[in-house]
Amino acid sequence: MSCTRILDKVYEYGGGEDMPLLLQLRIGLHLLICPGCAQEVERFEVTRDILRNDFLPPAPEGLEDSIMALVAAREETSAAEVFEAPGGLSTRGWAISGIIIMVSLVTAFFGLNFERIAHEAGMSFLLPVGITIGIVLTSYGALFIGSHLKEFSERFGL
Ligand SMILES: [Zn+2]
Repeated sequence: MSCTRILDKVYEYGGGEDMPLLLQLRIGLHLLICPGCAQEVERFEVTRDILRNDFLPPAPEGLEDSIMALVAAREETSAAEVFEAPGGLSTRGWAISGIIIMVSLVTAFFGLNFERIAHEAGMSFLLPVGITIGIVLTSYGALFIGSHLKEFSERFGL
């Protein structure tokens, strides 16, 4: 198998155990003889483990349920109002998703023993936290502006 194909397979199975044994063997063999792929796979696994274990800890118990209940309740009472635009959320829908995103982010990070971890891990912990919040907020803002471009241009006469 070629290097690209090896890496494709690794990414496809996420390095998990549900990968067929034969494929595991073939990849293992390839990694023995190919330092480039070995390094790439190692990098992938480190990133994956960080994402899985440290990056986004599970939200406090019951939070998901209460958010989903809130969303369901709102959908029932005002489905037409919240999701009025076909293929897009209304301003109210956007505000609600924004609040939900912020609540999940804040509780996810502060549900941790934040100070202790920040003290022990220092920048290596704070950096991904900052980056995550930054990325989420930026994407949210970009999506919001993108989908409300017409509204904005009308309102500000652009
Ligand atoms: Zn290779």
